Amino acid sequence: MKKEMIMNDLKSNQKRIADAGLKVTQQRLAILELIRTLEHPCTENVYESLQKNSLDVSLGTVYNTLESFADRGLISRMVTETGLVRYEPNCDGHYHLYSREENRIEDYKNEELQQYLADYFKRNKIPGFSIDEIQVQITGRFESE
Ligand SMILES: [Zn+2]
Repeated sequence: MKKEMIMNDLKSNQKRIADAGLKVTQQRLAILELIRTLEHPCTENVYESLQKNSLDVSLGTVYNTLESFADRGLISRMVTETGLVRYEPNCDGHYHLYSREENRIEDYKNEELQQYLADYFKRNKIPGFSIDEIQVQITGRFESE
């Protein structure tokens, strides 16, 4: 994690944390920034990265912080088939390609699919359920190039 990168996003991250009704702290800023720089990190990934950057935060605090961010919609959480929770920034509707073998997740962006799903559920409301977010995970194998 580069120092300059943290500075660039500091202002907007401060605002995002405050807007979510949380107190802006060094720890929260660092964790929010890490979610952007690491790819779909789990709690341990974030924890290890903080340690590398000499930020001494306990694993429990990292977990609680990530969960409170996710609860407030600051970041998204996803659960892989192995039950591991991974986090990521709120991205404009992208989907996930997941390889069970490699336990690897890649983003899959497709505006047509996004539009299609939005339109579909607008036309076909699910009785007794209101949709916040649609997540799609496509499971398969990455072919070697
Ligand atoms: Zn993603």
